[in-house]
Amino acid sequence: MDSEFACTLCGRCCNGFGRYIKINQMIGGAYGCSLTLTKEAFMAVPDPGRSLLLSDKSYFLEHPDACPFLRKDGEDTICTIYQSRPRFCRDYICCTGKVMKNGVVCGEMKGRRDLRTDDQTLKDRWAELADMFGGLGDPAWRQEVSERLCGDGYEVIFYG
Ligand code: SF4
Ligand code: SF4
Repeated sequence: MDSEFACTLCGRCCNGFGRYIKINQMIGGAYGCSLTLTKEAFMAVPDPGRSLLLSDKSYFLEHPDACPFLRKDGEDTICTIYQSRPRFCRDYICCTGKVMKNGVVCGEMKGRRDLRTDDQTLKDRWAELADMFGGLGDPAWRQEVSERLCGDGYEVIFYG
């Protein structure tokens, strides 16, 4: 089963990015930056209506390692330069799918073959499936995982 990934704006993906995104200079209202991981240079421009939020640095009291452009906006954690974020951030894939049981999410797929879960039974089963089918191409891998886990009483949803 395929579905769309819905970002929950939890901010986890950007909370450790302060060590990689460097602001080198300010040019007018924009920021000349570099992403040290990829050596990418980019010009960050605050999204419309985000300048005031960006000037509030209180987010770093609890998240000292966060990206310099990450801020809390109500319940959401947002990128204040979303429209001009670097390519690395544009290409980032958070979750590739999820595993559910009785309507509750019990596992989040990361990358191509990883699963984040607190369900030890599911964790063991996933490792077994990765051993058996991890070398297959993505369509075949998805089919095997879906069929096997459905047989175990789980529902498997791939994004996209
Ligand atoms: S992309 Fe994923 S980790 Fe990042 S804010 Fe959205 S849900 Fe959270
Ligand atoms: S630029 Fe935006 S998307 Fe990229 S790490 Fe910073 S807050 Fe996250």
